[in-house]
Amino acid sequence: MIKLHDSYFKPFINQADIQEAVKKIAEQIADDYKDETPIFVGVLNGAFMFVADLLKYYEHPCEVTFVKLSSYQGLTSTGIVETLLDVSEDIANRSVIILEDIIDTGRTLQQLVHLFSNSNVKEFKIASLFFKSDVYNGEYAIDYIGINIPDKFIVGYGLDYNELGRNLKEVYQLNQKHMINLVLFGKPGAGKGTQAEFLKDKYNLKHISTGDLFRFNIKNNTELGVLAKSYIDKGDLVPDEVTIKMLQDDVAKNPDASGFIFDGFPRTTAQAEALDAFLATKDMKIDATIALEANDEVLIQRLLERGKISGRTDDQDEEKIRNRFDEYNEKTAPLKDFYEAQGKFHSVNGIGEIDEITLRLGKVIEEL
Ligand code: AMP
Repeated sequence: MIKLHDSYFKPFINQADIQEAVKKIAEQIADDYKDETPIFVGVLNGAFMFVADLLKYYEHPCEVTFVKLSSYQGLTSTGIVETLLDVSEDIANRSVIILEDIIDTGRTLQQLVHLFSNSNVKEFKIASLFFKSDVYNGEYAIDYIGINIPDKFIVGYGLDYNELGRNLKEVYQLNQKHMINLVLFGKPGAGKGTQAEFLKDKYNLKHISTGDLFRFNIKNNTELGVLAKSYIDKGDLVPDEVTIKMLQDDVAKNPDASGFIFDGFPRTTAQAEALDAFLATKDMKIDATIALEANDEVLIQRLLERGKISGRTDDQDEEKIRNRFDEYNEKTAPLKDFYEAQGKFHSVNGIGEIDEITLRLGKVIEEL
């Protein structure tokens, strides 16, 4: 993994695959143009390496020149394309082959097509080393394509991230995984919500509490709230399919989060499996599950106290609390083995002053 400015990038396309793609394009162009002398037009700055390597593989007469346009600023395309360096060569009645490092939406390409369709060239073709076919929405069909890639931000081999990374020999992709995703684990009353509030500020994480989400829905009398209430009032777990969907929606609402604290989720093996599968689709994973340990008698006292202040009905009745513990022992406790098998389970003493416990949690997080 490498760091450019404040972002991390991981290897994506190796040198050999790049060279093979460049060679393939050179050979295809040679098949079409070896009987004349085409003019290659490299699009600066990104295409300089591609142009240099392609010309080494192109063993027939040719000329080369460059144009410069600009549309990328940082990690996303701005949509504004400027012509910074125009074609100066006499290109009338010549075959022009534009060499692009990458084509994504096709906006830069449109500007290029415009540049050349106004000149009286014999014909022009477009070659792109990398092509994001999923996001391309231009009308022009690309004539020569090296490697089709998914819509990821890439650097290296001429491509930059705010000017850094052009000198890398291979191509790297933005690493979305430089996040911390934590599961706070423990019985009702263990202090998950309280600690999450501190940890989220300390580590810049988004706190997602499924209990809070349910209570929010109950307060607003949504369909989901009405359904959840019938289970929560008894101290039972809400069915997995409802809970999993709700959690996924909430994660999806925070695409820019630098990590999540999952509090009160997962509570069943099915939820834990669904969480892993869902995070994998987003190139994310759980880094650690931290259990806050406390014995039942301490927890019951805490919950009854909390019930007086918060008005939560599920905290006011000892019988409901005991049922929640039974649910925990039966359905949630097995997750310890699930996360231990992944080497992600950590346990912290949940009894003591709040800030002491925050420090214990911080120690685990900082060692990750
Ligand atoms: P909590 O605030 O985390 O103690 O959650 C309160 C109640 O919401 C629980 O007793 C369950 O009825 C329900 N609930 C919260 N999270 C989940 C979950 N992950 N799966 C099923 N039910 C949940």
